Amino acid sequence: MADGKTHDAITYFTCIPLCLLANFLFGVNIAIVFTLAYVFSGLAFNGDLDIESKPYFRWGLLRFIWIPYRRFGHRSKWTHGFLRGTLTRLLWVSPLILALFILMVYLNGFTVVMNIITTYWYLIIAFIIGLEFGSMSHTLADISSSAWKRFVYKTFGIRIVPSFVKWKKK
Ligand SMILES: [Zn+2]
Repeated sequence: MADGKTHDAITYFTCIPLCLLANFLFGVNIAIVFTLAYVFSGLAFNGDLDIESKPYFRWGLLRFIWIPYRRFGHRSKWTHGFLRGTLTRLLWVSPLILALFILMVYLNGFTVVMNIITTYWYLIIAFIIGLEFGSMSHTLADISSSAWKRFVYKTFGIRIVPSFVKWKKK
């Protein structure tokens, strides 16, 4: 598994070309929202919320909501899996999203909020896709780093992380 620092560095470096690509393909608004979601996901909304990790501590006072999430098991398909990981986390924070929605309705009125959502729905989609890209960049880094460690172990007999076999089992 790649450590927290490596994951952060990968997130910062890859977000720039991805942002430029999104800007080229879909325009500046989508690119900004996509990149924000990508960075947020890479730093604080990825599969490593299933352990006491950098992403976990980045939730500050709210981090307790992720403690029961560990029951999925570190690197289970529900936390590190393709699509499933992000969707599970979105479901996990759905009470927060609902609370935000209610607050917005309270402040601006239901019609205004629904108007915003129906007008800018594509930005919501861009945000969710950004979250998934951030999560997948995390999981891919985990997989390639485990494969590298396995290779080093098999070739040179050097064990970089004793628990690297765990990834294979799940
Ligand atoms: Zn991980």
